[in-house]
Amino acid sequence: MPEWVVVGIDNGGTSNNGTVLDSDGRFLLEQMAEVPSFVKEGPDRAIEALVGSIDHVLDLAGVPLSKVRAIGLDTPGPASADGVISSKGATNFGDPPWRGYDIRGALAQRVGLPVVYNNDGNAAALYAHHIRYGADSAVHGSVSAIVGTGLGGGLIEAGQVIKGAAGMAGELGHVTIPMEGLLDDGQPTPSCNCGQLADVESVASLTGIQNNLLPYWLTRYPGHELARHPLGKAAKLVRGYGEDGDPLALAIFRQQAIALGRLFTIASNFLDPDAYFLGGGVVEAAPHFRGWFLAQVRENTQLREEQANVAVIALVPDLDMAGARGSAVAARDWLLHHSQAAVGLTQIGPIGLALSPGPGVSPPPW
Ligand SMILES: [Zn+2]
Repeated sequence: MPEWVVVGIDNGGTSNNGTVLDSDGRFLLEQMAEVPSFVKEGPDRAIEALVGSIDHVLDLAGVPLSKVRAIGLDTPGPASADGVISSKGATNFGDPPWRGYDIRGALAQRVGLPVVYNNDGNAAALYAHHIRYGADSAVHGSVSAIVGTGLGGGLIEAGQVIKGAAGMAGELGHVTIPMEGLLDDGQPTPSCNCGQLADVESVASLTGIQNNLLPYWLTRYPGHELARHPLGKAAKLVRGYGEDGDPLALAIFRQQAIALGRLFTIASNFLDPDAYFLGGGVVEAAPHFRGWFLAQVRENTQLREEQANVAVIALVPDLDMAGARGSAVAARDWLLHHSQAAVGLTQIGPIGLALSPGPGVSPPPW
C-alpha cells in the first residue's frame, strides 16, 4: 500500500477520466477509467460526478480515500489559472450557471482536499513532458502542440506549467503566423473562431480543415469524393485520405505541418525548449503517414544549429490518458513542491489557492 496518493481527473463534455498516482510516482491504473461527467446538467450535478469519478478510480486502484493528499483536475478552457470558468462561458460549459463558476474551489470544498487545476491543454503538455523526462523533468522545458477540434497545448519550463498572469499562457492556437509560402496562390487567408486571421488554429485543427482548408482545396480538385459529404463530416475523413496518399489530403496536411513548424520556430525564439511535442489525431494515424507528417513539421521548424543539436521534435503518446495523468502529475508536483514549507495544509497554499483541508483530513506526514 502506498504511503499516500493523488488522484488526477480529466473533465470532458461527456465523461470524466481518472487515474491514481502514488507517492513514488507510479500510476496505479493502466487503463482509461471513465464515468459520465453530466457537465450539461449544470455545476451541482457535475461536481457530484467528479466526486463519483474520484471514488471510482480509488475503488479500481484499491486505495482508501484516507490515503489521498490532493486532487489534480483539468477541464477544457477558457478558464482562469485557478479554475474559474470564463465569464463568457465556454464550449463545454454552455449553461448560464457555469459562467464565472469556480469549479476548482467547488470540488475542493466538496471533498475537503486541495485541488490543483490546469486546463486540458496544459495537463496534456505536462504529461508529455513527464513521459519524456521522468525524474529529470525539473531540468527541462518543452512545448506541446495538440491538434484536435482546436489547437491546444502548453508550455513547460523547469518541469512546471507556465500559466501566465491571467492563466492564458500557452494558448498556442491563437499565435499568428506568416502565411507567405504556406497558402496556395489565390487561397483565402484562413480565419479562426477567436476572430483572428492567420493564426495557427485557423490551419492546424479540425475546425481549420472544415472552415478554411477543405473548402479551398475542394475547388482545386473538382469532382473529389469528399465533396459529396457535408463539410463537417468530410473534414473528419481527410486523415484517412491522407493515409492513402490522396493529393488533396496531403496538400491539407502539408499546410498544417508548415503552420506547426512555424509555431515551433516562434517557440524556439521565445523559450528555446528541450523538446517540441506534437499530439492529436495525426499521432493515431498509420505509421507511414505519421512519419511523413512529423518529417514535414521538422522541415518547417527553423532552429539555430545550437538548438537543433540539443532539441527533439517528437510525438506525444497515449493522448487519451494525458489529461488525467497530467493532472495527477500536477497534483503530486504541487504537494512535493510545498512539502518543505508545510506544517499543515492550511499554511501551504500559494496566493489564489484557498485551501480548505476539511474535517478528518490529516496534514501530510512531512
Ligand atoms: Zn484563434
